[in-house]
Amino acid sequence: MSDNLYIGRFAPSPSGKLHIGSFLSAITSYIDAKHNNGLWKLRIDDIDSERSKKIYSENIIKILKDFLLDPDEIYYQTDHLNDYVNYLDRIPKEKTYFCECTRKIISTLPQHDIGAIYNGRCLNKNLKYGALRMQMKKINFSFDDLNLGLIKLDKTHVSDFIVRGKNQFAYVFCCVIDDYLQGVNTIVRGSDLVFQTFQQRYLQELFSFPTLSYLHHPVLYDGKRKISKSDQDKEIHPDNRTEILVSMLKILNQKIAPNIKSYKSILEHAIESWDIKAIPNSTRINLC
Ligand code: GLU
Repeated sequence: MSDNLYIGRFAPSPSGKLHIGSFLSAITSYIDAKHNNGLWKLRIDDIDSERSKKIYSENIIKILKDFLLDPDEIYYQTDHLNDYVNYLDRIPKEKTYFCECTRKIISTLPQHDIGAIYNGRCLNKNLKYGALRMQMKKINFSFDDLNLGLIKLDKTHVSDFIVRGKNQFAYVFCCVIDDYLQGVNTIVRGSDLVFQTFQQRYLQELFSFPTLSYLHHPVLYDGKRKISKSDQDKEIHPDNRTEILVSMLKILNQKIAPNIKSYKSILEHAIESWDIKAIPNSTRINLC
């Protein structure tokens, strides 16, 4: 495999049917990978055993097939529990501590739009069990996003984060291991995950994993609310696939060939004429 081969991915959580918010990530990551003659891998983020359901991962795989988005690999997080255990063992013990804070306690901490900022409440308690928190000491964080430009982490937003909850590994941790194991070098996903990028880059550095490229696209909103799995009217249906593809391309500000009618040709044209500079460099877009 060439060192320069682009390897991208789409990593949905199967906790509901695929909706247009998530589909925007699928289409953006697929077209960017194929425009760059790369591979596009599917990762089913099913580590959260309470919320993940097989019917939803099957729905996601079927919808992608109906929309001709063929993954070069399908990877399930639940097949990689041993990898998570092995990598967790490699984190020096002094960089983590056990935490007993409940959701209720966390909700009383200073809140930012990126979530609660953890104040190290359990840092010096020397607990012997609980959730495992990673200390995040480095504060000069920044990265160059392919869409949003230079993003800096505000010092006041540095916060110790969970790598393994009481019962299961955390998404932020697994994602770093998965991207490495899948050989991913370019991550295209919604801007709601920009903050997690800092935590993930922190872990990548700790494991001496290669540095990845990131493109965060705008997230779809319906008024003040982010479109989510509970928006049943925003579910994806293959009967409307041409209309859906065209609306996604419009959101991404891409050129749409005027005389092409078939779904397949529109997709092929989008891959050929793909222009990441045209993608709106905002973090959200309102659908109404
Ligand atoms: N599974 C995550 C989600 O559906 C996305 C993970 C990622 O793209 O890094 O929000």
